[in-house]
Amino acid sequence: MPEAPVRGRFAPSPSGRMHLGNVFSALLAWLSVRSRDGTMLLRIEDLDRERCRPEYAAQIKRDLKTLGLDWDEEQPRQSTRDEAYLEQFRTLGALVYPCYCSRSELLAASAPHAADGRAVYPGTCRDLTPEQRAQKEKAPSWRVRVPDRVIAVDDLLQGRYEENLEKACGDFIVRRADGVYAYQLAVVTDDAAGGVTEVTRGVDLLSSAPRQRYLQELLGFPQVTYCHVPLLTDASGRRLSKRDGDLDLGALLDRMTVPELLGHLAFAAGLLEKYEPATARELIPVFRLDRLKRENIKVRDYFPL
Ligand code: GLU
Repeated sequence: MPEAPVRGRFAPSPSGRMHLGNVFSALLAWLSVRSRDGTMLLRIEDLDRERCRPEYAAQIKRDLKTLGLDWDEEQPRQSTRDEAYLEQFRTLGALVYPCYCSRSELLAASAPHAADGRAVYPGTCRDLTPEQRAQKEKAPSWRVRVPDRVIAVDDLLQGRYEENLEKACGDFIVRRADGVYAYQLAVVTDDAAGGVTEVTRGVDLLSSAPRQRYLQELLGFPQVTYCHVPLLTDASGRRLSKRDGDLDLGALLDRMTVPELLGHLAFAAGLLEKYEPATARELIPVFRLDRLKRENIKVRDYFPL
C-alpha cells in the first residue's frame, strides 16, 4: 500500500532565540518530512503571553530560513485560536470540571509524585456539588477526567510508551484560571486542524504524548504518529536550554557556517558516520530513522565548542 502523504510541523515557542537543541529537533522534523516528499507546517506556539514575543517569532522564522529549513504552510498563531480551543473544550462536555485548588494546596497534596516528578492531581474538586461550586469565589481552572486504564503510544524511535493517566498525572488542566487554554488541548486541536500526521519533537515531550493521545480519542481526532528524538545535553547530561546563551543560534553562527553547524548536528544524530559540512538539502538522502540515536547526546562529544 502506498504510504499516506506525510504532514509534519515545526511548533516553536517564541520565548527566545532558537538554541542548538531546538535546531537539532527542527532539523530532524524537517528531514523526516522532506525525505518522504511530505508537507511541512509552521505553527508559532505563543500561548504563554508573558514569555512569548512577536519579535522572537520573527527571529525564529528568519533563523529557520537561514538554516534552509523551509515550510509549505503556516498555521495561525496559538494566541489567535481561542475560538477553536473553546469549541473543543465544549466538546469535552461533562468530562471537564472546574478546579479551585491553588498551586500551594496542590503542592501540599501532591505526594506521591509520579516517576518523572510530575505531581499527581488528587481529584480534590472532581466531585464537588453545584452548591459547593457556587460557594467558591475564585475563577477556576478546568480539568479533564482521565480513566484508570493504560494509554499506549507507539513511538517511531522510542518504542512503546505507556501511562495510566490516573496514576501518572490524574485529571489534567485543559483551561487555566486566567482563561488561557492549556498546551495539551491547543496542540491536539492545532495538529488536527492542520491535518498533521507526524509529530517529531524532543523526547522531553514524550510524557505528554499519552495525554495528547487521550484528547485525540475524546475529540475524535486522527491519531498522529509520534517520533521523539533525543535531547542534546551538556557534559553532565543536563539538557541544553535557552539559559545556555553560548549555544544560541546567533552565537553559534558567529563561529561556524550553516553547513558546518548542520554537519555537526547530523553527525551527532547518527545520520553521518563522521563530521562533514552539509546543507539541509544535502542531508535529505541520508535521513533514515534506523540511523538515529535514541539516547540523549552530549553535545561536546560532537561539537568543537
Ligand atoms: N511548542 C513546544 C516547544 O517549543 C513544542 C510542542 C510540540 O512539539 O508539541 O517546546
